[in-house]
Amino acid sequence: MRPVTARRKIWGIEADVLKMINEASRESLPNEFVAALRAENGVITEILLFPGSRSNERSAFMQLNLMPIDFSVVGTVHSHPGPSNRPSAEDLHLFGNFGSTHIITCLPYDWRSWQAYDREGRPVKLEVVDL
Ligand SMILES: [Zn+2]
Repeated sequence: MRPVTARRKIWGIEADVLKMINEASRESLPNEFVAALRAENGVITEILLFPGSRSNERSAFMQLNLMPIDFSVVGTVHSHPGPSNRPSAEDLHLFGNFGSTHIITCLPYDWRSWQAYDREGRPVKLEVVDL
């Protein structure tokens, strides 16, 4: 068993990516914003957007299932148009099926609104990397 102090494979996120996530979430209101996360050397460096409507969580996540296989994709990010960034039952189902690192951001979409989760829906800490 790995010691609990071991760094996760995905351990950080670029500050610019967080900024982009919050801006896109604000622009998507009252809908959710959904994207895939891409990482390089353990740091999330990019979001991949999906075309089409994002009227609710269920339809947004169905689009994720249509994604091409891309091994630099490590998980998902989505926004909640409310004050909670805790995963819903639907979210937990997706987390268990896809990727290792998932981010949920909620209103007001600022530097403290987001939380990352592992595939079991347990909160994980990501370092914000400012380049
Ligand atoms: Zn959700």
